[in-house]
Amino acid sequence: MGLIKKHNWRTHLSSLFVLAGLCACGFPAQAVSTHPILVLTNAANPFSQYYSEILLTEGLNEFTQANVSTISYDSLAPYDMVILGESALTPVQVNDLSDWVNAGGKLIAMRPDKQLAGLLGLTDAGSTLSEGYLLVNTADGPGIGIVDQTMQFHGTAHRYTLSGASSVATLYSNALSATANPAVTLRNVGPNGGQAAAFIFDLARSIVFTRQGNPAWSGQERDDITPIRPDDLFYGAARLDPQPDYVDLNKVAIPQADEQQRLLANMILSMESNRKLLPRFWYFPYGFKAVVVMTGDDHATGGTAGRFDRYIALSPAHASVDDWQAIRSTSYLFPDTPLTDAQAAAYNAAGFEISLHLNTGCADYTPDSLHMLFTNQLGRFTNTFPSLPPVATHRIHCVAWSSYTTLPEEELRLGIRLDTSYYFWPPKWVLDRPGLFTGSGMPMRFAKTNGSLIDVYQAATQMTDESGQSFPYTVDTLLDRALGPEGYYGAFVANMHTDSVNSPESDAIVNSAVNRGVPVIAARQLLTWLDARNDSTFDSVGWTNNTLSFTITASAGARGLQGMVPIPVGYRVTNIAHDGNPIGCSLNKIKGMQYVFFPALTGNYSISIISNVAPLNITAILPRAGVTDANRAPDISLTSSEVMSASTVNPNTFVLLNASGNVISVLLSYIASTLAPVLTPTFLLAPATTYTAVVKSGGRSPR
Ligand SMILES: [Zn+2]
Repeated sequence: MGLIKKHNWRTHLSSLFVLAGLCACGFPAQAVSTHPILVLTNAANPFSQYYSEILLTEGLNEFTQANVSTISYDSLAPYDMVILGESALTPVQVNDLSDWVNAGGKLIAMRPDKQLAGLLGLTDAGSTLSEGYLLVNTADGPGIGIVDQTMQFHGTAHRYTLSGASSVATLYSNALSATANPAVTLRNVGPNGGQAAAFIFDLARSIVFTRQGNPAWSGQERDDITPIRPDDLFYGAARLDPQPDYVDLNKVAIPQADEQQRLLANMILSMESNRKLLPRFWYFPYGFKAVVVMTGDDHATGGTAGRFDRYIALSPAHASVDDWQAIRSTSYLFPDTPLTDAQAAAYNAAGFEISLHLNTGCADYTPDSLHMLFTNQLGRFTNTFPSLPPVATHRIHCVAWSSYTTLPEEELRLGIRLDTSYYFWPPKWVLDRPGLFTGSGMPMRFAKTNGSLIDVYQAATQMTDESGQSFPYTVDTLLDRALGPEGYYGAFVANMHTDSVNSPESDAIVNSAVNRGVPVIAARQLLTWLDARNDSTFDSVGWTNNTLSFTITASAGARGLQGMVPIPVGYRVTNIAHDGNPIGCSLNKIKGMQYVFFPALTGNYSISIISNVAPLNITAILPRAGVTDANRAPDISLTSSEVMSASTVNPNTFVLLNASGNVISVLLSYIASTLAPVLTPTFLLAPATTYTAVVKSGGRSPR
């Protein structure tokens, strides 16, 4: 903890004394631990493993995963922070976690076991809420920078009331109706900096279902347009089973899953901030906030070559394909598309991707029939284009999606690692609303209905030339929300059919992207990037004397990988070095937090910070220190060397203590002319008693 100023006086007889406890502003030194974060999983709930996928997507690649059954107090001790997947706990595990938090550990519990309620500062309200909404507190704390509108969650939340915790987000029973219960909470525990936070629903389960749709609707033909497609997993208005849409399309502009992941990331970083700063990787190369993934389906009509030529013509001279400077794309095609193997090889060498468009005849499929179709058509594809590398990404014809994960499971068996078949369609449902029907602009791996991971990325197609979407309105809206204050970053996949060479929609998308400095890439380039970024690691994260140290092992394919470290308010970077040599950096505000960005190369890093501001100098307090005849109903005011921000002066930073050191109840107000804060006790102070006013400063200081 940082600067603490105390000011004592007595209401009657007393000697004069002032405690001015002044310590160096900063953070305590901390021993090096290889990975500061521990993800605790539970074999009975594979969704608990999905937190690792979430952390990787958020670039927090400094975690270890372990089964909750293996923990003990000693095994927890090396870690700063635990992400506890939803899990029933034994009383011993509850004790170990509680002791570890009381010793200074930082716990984030997902849909916690009710035995943790006391530690979390919650009281069980004895009921549940399913399929509700949450509203993040964006005025203060880790919610700053997250969207200030309600967002959906899927699954069942336990209702609690606050009894010691503060609310980071409020539970809503629908988009407009708040409950008295929190959705996300945070509590300070004990004198050692421990904190216990909770999501009262299973965030990972909610994110998977938000991204992939309602598992209860798997295999249902809900929109009455055969075959069964991904939109059927979200489409509410089925003739025989009318329900609300699984994605509230009034919210389709908001990447609801991404924003909730980012709230988790903000909580991790802010809770950790009095221990050490934690490094992250940025989502895309070179700090790009948005990328267009251009694809097109070619049903053997042969526009592919001409379209590729157009993208070459639109690319800047000497553009580097590997650095995402050239306009490149994927064509998914039927094997009998008119294109020679030599043409295919040349385009492939130039950075275009030519891949299979599996044709089921627009029919539903079973795992077996799908396997047969792939065997047949991949064989024909390989025979036609023997010079091409193995198929790596895929979109299925008619976006047939007969069950929740049959297709990605089969793709994984075939070595296909990225799927673009999730498709914002049909027009009667899209209604020309630009948005993210999977709640995400982030390619992440699929999970089965039980939560277990499938090592195939879902990159949803959010722009098509058959969804009734207007262009450039659709692409402009998506890109401007990614680049602008909303911060809805993403990889936005387009299907601009390559059946014909010309596509006005494709031209509009490329034009909008180029004008905004947004890259246009093939799906295979995105896959290469995702694997390389996920394989890159932070290790040996240490913190000594306001200097963060860590090593990066950057995967060879992670060209343009960017590291980022949050810089606390009131601090600035004095030195940033890679293997002992100063490197360039830049500052960027992301979701309410200021970060220093730097090239993430393999090697050892050190980043030093220093307080940016002189300590707040309290110039006067009334009643004066040591006054022995103070009014028993005083207005306690303070004057400082600079104007204090009302947002930083609150009942946690300006407090009145009784002789026992306990905080007593006061009203906080301000002198209008000077904005100087004033405490007024809510009851008469006791005679012949010393009271102490305390102004706290430091990481969350009054300014
Ligand atoms: Zn097709």
